[in-house]
Amino acid sequence: MLQAQPQASHYIDGAYVDDPAGAVIEVVHPGDGSVIAKLHEATPALIDRALDAATRAQAEWAALKPVERGRILRRAADLIRERNRDLSVLESLDTGKPLQETLVADAASGADALEYFGGLAPTVTGESIPLGTDFAYTIREPLGVCAGLGAWNYPIQIACWKAAPALAFGNAMVFKPSETTPLSALKLAEILTEAGLPAGLFNVLQGRGAVGAALAGDARVAKVSLTGSVPTGRKVYAKAAEGIRHVTMELGGKSPLIVFDDASIEDAIGGAMLGNFYSSGQICSNGTRVFVQRGIRDRFLDRLKERTEAITMGDPMDEATQMGPLVSAAQMEKVMGYIEQGRAEGARLVTGGARLNGPGCFVQPTVFADVADDMVIAREEIFGPVMAVLDFDTEEEVIARANATEFGLAAGVFTADMTRAHRVVAGLQAGTCWINSYNLTPVEMPFGGVKQSGVGRENGRAAVEYYTQVKTVHVGMGPVDAPY
Ligand code: NDP
Repeated sequence: MLQAQPQASHYIDGAYVDDPAGAVIEVVHPGDGSVIAKLHEATPALIDRALDAATRAQAEWAALKPVERGRILRRAADLIRERNRDLSVLESLDTGKPLQETLVADAASGADALEYFGGLAPTVTGESIPLGTDFAYTIREPLGVCAGLGAWNYPIQIACWKAAPALAFGNAMVFKPSETTPLSALKLAEILTEAGLPAGLFNVLQGRGAVGAALAGDARVAKVSLTGSVPTGRKVYAKAAEGIRHVTMELGGKSPLIVFDDASIEDAIGGAMLGNFYSSGQICSNGTRVFVQRGIRDRFLDRLKERTEAITMGDPMDEATQMGPLVSAAQMEKVMGYIEQGRAEGARLVTGGARLNGPGCFVQPTVFADVADDMVIAREEIFGPVMAVLDFDTEEEVIARANATEFGLAAGVFTADMTRAHRVVAGLQAGTCWINSYNLTPVEMPFGGVKQSGVGRENGRAAVEYYTQVKTVHVGMGPVDAPY
C-alpha cells in the first residue's frame, strides 16, 4: 500500500477519474526516496472531458449571485483549516518541506485566499459613466474557463491562489499541478465539492508539460495562469498568444536583498535566512543576492555562519526539523552543480556546500561570500539553499547592481533610515518589495513580477483585473444623430 495514494489520478466534473492508458507518474517522498503514490498522466480524452465539464459548468456559475459563490469558497476555507494537519502531512510527504513549515504556511495560505476572494466577490462591480444626456456603464464579467499550471514548491497554495479568484469572479478552472507534487490539488478539489461547489468548476488533471501545453493552447480556454520558470513561461505565453488568451505569469527571480550598515544585523540576517533557506530555498521571490554594506560585512558573515550552522536539518515529518530535503533528486543535482560552479568561479564558501549522506535529497544550507556580479551563482536562479553575499559601498551603486538582471520579481531593503528605505525601493525594478522584512506574502497584498519575472498580479484587489473583463454599455437617451 502506497502511503499517499489518492482514490484516482484526476478530478473531473465533481468526481475522481482515472485512465490507466496515461503514462505512469511515480510520486516520491524526497525525505527518503520512497514512492508514495502512482498516478497516470491525463490522456487527450480526459483533457477533453475536463474542458467540456468546465465550459458547461461555468455559464451557470457565472449567473449565480456573487455572494453565493463567495459563501461556498469561505466554507472551503473553513474545511481546509479544520483539516490543516492532514493537508500539511500530505504536503510534507509530497514536497519534503518540513512539517514545521507546512503546518503554518501552505494550506493555511490557501484558506486565506479562499476566504479573501470569497469575501471580495460581491464587491466587484462596474461603474456608471455620465455622458450628458446619454450615459454608459460597465460590467465586470468572468473570462470563462481558466487553465492553472502550478510549480512544485507550494502546491496547494498555488492551486488556491489561482482557483480562489477565478471561481470567486465566476470562472471555471482546469488545474494541472506539477508532476513532481500532484497530490494536494486533488484534496482541494474534494474540499471544494464538499463545500458545495457545483461539479465541473474545479478540475484537476495530472501530467507533464505536454498536458499543460494542451490546456494552454485549447480554444475552450480563455486564460492561462502559470507559476513556473522563465523558460516555461516563454513557451506557455507563446501558446496562449496563439488564441489571444489572457495570461498571468508568475515566474522566477534572482532578487536582491540590500543590507545597509545602520540596519539591525539580527533582523537582516533573519530576513536573509528566511529569504534563502525557508522551503530549502525553493521560493521564487528569494533574496538570493544579499548585498551587504562593506562596513558590517564581517560581522554579518560571522553571525550568519553561526545561525546557519544551528539550523536543524532532517526528517521533514519531525516537527522539530527546520529544514528538509530538496523536492527531488534532479533538483538536488542541479543545486549541487551550482555550488560546484560557485567554488570554481572563486566565491568563498562560508558554510555548507555539501549534500548529506544517506537517503533523501538533502543539501546543507550554503553561504558564499566575495561573490561578484558576473558569477553564475549571482545571475541564475538556483532554487535551492544557496545564499550569495556581495559587498557594496554606496546607495547609488547598489541600486544599479541590484537592477542589473533580467529578473524583477522581488527585492528587500534593511535599514533604520526610512527615508532611504523608500528612496531605494522607488529605484528598484521589482514587482514586490519588502522594507525590514522579507518574503511575507499575505493574500491582501498583490504579488507578481516585472521584467522577465512575469506578467500580472496574484492576490489583493489587483487580482480582479486578471480574472475578469470589462464590458462597456453605452445607453442612448435621445434621438440618433445620423448624417445620412
Ligand atoms: P516549471 O516551469 O518547470 O513548471 C511549471 C509548470 O508548468 C509545471 O506544472 C510544469 O509541468 C508545467 N509545464 C512545463 N512545461 C510546459 C509547457 N511547455 N507547457 C505548459 N506547461 C508546462 O517550474 P517548476 O515546477 O520547476 O518550478 C520552479 C520554478 O517556478 C522556479 O523557476 C520558480 O522561480 C518558479 N516559481 C515562481 C513563483 C512566482 O510566483 N513567481 C512561485 C513559485 C515558483 P511539470 O512540472 O509536470 O513538467
